[in-house]
Amino acid sequence: MQTSVIRGTANGTISAIAYAELGDITSSQFTALAAMQRELNADVRLSNRQNVVFRNLTEEKLRVLYDRLDAIGMARPGAELARDVVACPGADTCNIAVTQSRGLAKAIGDELEAQGLAEVGGVRINISGCTNSCGQHHASDIGFFGAERRAHGQSAPGYQMLLGGYVGQEQIHFGEKALRVPAKAAPEAVARVVRRFANERVAGETFRTWMDRVGGVDKVADELRDLDFFPTPEENPNFYIDYGETGPFVAAVGDSECAV
Ligand code: SF4
Repeated sequence: MQTSVIRGTANGTISAIAYAELGDITSSQFTALAAMQRELNADVRLSNRQNVVFRNLTEEKLRVLYDRLDAIGMARPGAELARDVVACPGADTCNIAVTQSRGLAKAIGDELEAQGLAEVGGVRINISGCTNSCGQHHASDIGFFGAERRAHGQSAPGYQMLLGGYVGQEQIHFGEKALRVPAKAAPEAVARVVRRFANERVAGETFRTWMDRVGGVDKVADELRDLDFFPTPEENPNFYIDYGETGPFVAAVGDSECAV
């Protein structure tokens, strides 16, 4: 529970984050969240990491809130940690998406869980299904935007990976281009970077400070370059099918839901 609680040291405020995986909340969960807000007389906000934040809590209310959230599957520890990958709608609903950004977000979360890295703190992962940045990939520690790749005469889903973006005191610092990877190699690329960051950072060090200290974006990317590899369609057809799709990847563009 403690990983999702924020205690203000200056005036003793207590806030708690309800975890919405991929930003998804069902209608019954929304109804339950509204009931919690009334019961606890709490201030409720949506966060830009696609979670629900309860503010103005007390220690007593915190226990009640945890039990209520647990009952609807939103008390899972680790909200806003590495497992909390943010993605735009992508090809699920957006007509100008190049790739299935939500599918990649799920795959990255699963890979981090499998490698024991899901609860590493201090690293934000954001994904956009095209260059339009609705997933805020440009201002994230680890960012991706979808891009068509071609390999062995076929189209394939791919991503440009960026590293080191963050929101500073007075301005946004964009992430720097690291390398392009096949969509199906992106989860392993994230796991390698998160593992290295977790092993090498010193106390209180941000992702960007760590990246600069170890030599910058190119040095970090050097350890990922073997992942920018496409087997032939005969060797591994999976590299030519996007997440959640059943047929070969086809890049087709229509009207967007947010950028036109
Ligand atoms: S236009 Fe926005 S929502 Fe659509 S794929 Fe691009 S970044 Fe995602």
